Amino acid sequence: MKRQVSFREWQEAPYAWPGGYAVVGEDKWGNPICPACSGKIEEWEFGSAFIYYEGPTLECVICGSEIPSEYGDPWATDPDE
Ligand SMILES: [Zn+2]
Repeated sequence: MKRQVSFREWQEAPYAWPGGYAVVGEDKWGNPICPACSGKIEEWEFGSAFIYYEGPTLECVICGSEIPSEYGDPWATDPDE
């Protein structure tokens, strides 16, 4: 489940309100980019941005930090992992 956000919206507000949800970006090659790095890519590199509600934790291609989904991964088989 994704809610799409434009490049400009993402640059201006990498955390969406209400709720303060992290808006996760993707470059045009499909690599995930965390909200803190939204200002570090150019528009031509931009693929899409969306509120990441559920799914496995992603890793930012720029800073390497983990990007967890808001509600976790409903398909994870091992909750201890
Ligand atoms: Zn980052």
